[in-house]
Amino acid sequence: MYSSSIIGSTQTILDDFKLDGMMIRYSQFVPRLYNFCLSLGMEAGKIMPSRAFCSDESQGFPIILLAKQFGAFPFNHGRVGGIVSTDRHGPHATHGQDMMIIQASHVGYEPENQEFGVYRRIQTHDCHHSTNCGKISGTLKWYLDEYHFACENIFLEQNNNGQYQVSINNLLLHEDREEGLLLELEKIIAFDHNGKAELVRSLSTARCFKASNELIEQLKISKDDWPTGGGRAIGSLLTPELFKFRRQLNSEIEGAAQLEKNLIGAMPLIVTHPAPALAAAQILTQVEFDRTYRTIINEPGYNNRNLLFISGLHIDISPREDQIFPLTKFVPWAAYIQKTDGSHVILEQQELFDALIALDVQNDQQIDLEKEIQVMEETEEVQISYDFLSKK
Ligand SMILES: [Zn+2]
Repeated sequence: MYSSSIIGSTQTILDDFKLDGMMIRYSQFVPRLYNFCLSLGMEAGKIMPSRAFCSDESQGFPIILLAKQFGAFPFNHGRVGGIVSTDRHGPHATHGQDMMIIQASHVGYEPENQEFGVYRRIQTHDCHHSTNCGKISGTLKWYLDEYHFACENIFLEQNNNGQYQVSINNLLLHEDREEGLLLELEKIIAFDHNGKAELVRSLSTARCFKASNELIEQLKISKDDWPTGGGRAIGSLLTPELFKFRRQLNSEIEGAAQLEKNLIGAMPLIVTHPAPALAAAQILTQVEFDRTYRTIINEPGYNNRNLLFISGLHIDISPREDQIFPLTKFVPWAAYIQKTDGSHVILEQQELFDALIALDVQNDQQIDLEKEIQVMEETEEVQISYDFLSKK
């Protein structure tokens, strides 16, 4: 099955997910999130928090803070990459009176060189860095490789008469490929009035066409970029409008391919972004909010319940060698709020940020995890009885 998404045609998608001025330090976000729940009419001690985070250990600090502030260990609603397991709504609904679900995809950030997509793994023998989110980065690799091949195998050149030409590797011209980067040829090469591509010459492994006026206009580059006497690789001038991807994806709902299904339509934007791992995590958060919200409103167990579903991005600040946890930042994206009378509303990014920031950062009901662990350690041990087995 070929997967595509209308989202890929929305060039503003990343611009609409603002990072500037939207980041909240996690330790100051979770108490506000708890107070937000109370402000919506939820009852202290009766809220069942749930999280849909990646399995990465870098997501542990947020989970610990959720347990501390909500006084309950959060239900696990997540799959690798921050995909929501929507088939777990029913069980979650039975575990508490009021419902809070938080979804977040994540990206690492190394402050030393201001790089997104990497994270120091303190438990490795030499504390080296690796990709973060590893699942997202692993998924992106095939698309980035395909894109870089195209960047290096499409050439711009100018003939002696000043005509702009574009040479394209034959592999990129096979439009019936089951998988690969597909060029939007009508935007790249000129076609005559009969709809036939204006072929200039055939080379051994490529074909040379007259460039389309749209390409010439779109690139808006100097004559030096259309050199004479030889081609110049198109490189980063291969912009998202000029190609798309096709890939065989498993049609299994929410299986391993869900993350890739969420991203494939927006991949041209992601692979041309200066920080692909960041762009992918943002888009994943956006798609997961939309997808999950539609399953929540159709879940009978959530009917007429106080419920908050919030999505955002985790930016995991790579820890120094002397730090146990990352200084994670939360960037809110959107929230769905539902009340027991059936009324509901969606808050967009700015409204959600403003609502959170307006709340008190103090939470008097937070628990002392060390003390609670000590209580459990000191409580008289319960002996498990097997007597019923012998009575059978
Ligand atoms: Zn991850």
